[in-house]
Amino acid sequence: MPRYEYRCRTCGDTFELSRPMAESSDPAACPAGHGDTVKLLSAVAVGGTGTAAPAQSGGGGGCCGGGCCG
Ligand SMILES: [Zn+2]
Repeated sequence: MPRYEYRCRTCGDTFELSRPMAESSDPAACPAGHGDTVKLLSAVAVGGTGTAAPAQSGGGGGCCGGGCCG
């Protein structure tokens, strides 16, 4: 049976419930008995579209190698 994560908007607690998928969106009371809860989307990858900048491999820049110092 899948597990779903919920958060109570009254006390801010998060809790998990194992319930059938057909009841995943049903109201779930928090362990403290509050009924104002929201279902969290767990196991969902969000964002992360940034690209890693390639490392700048420094080279040269000085005069040596160009013939000016030797
Ligand atoms: Zn609560």
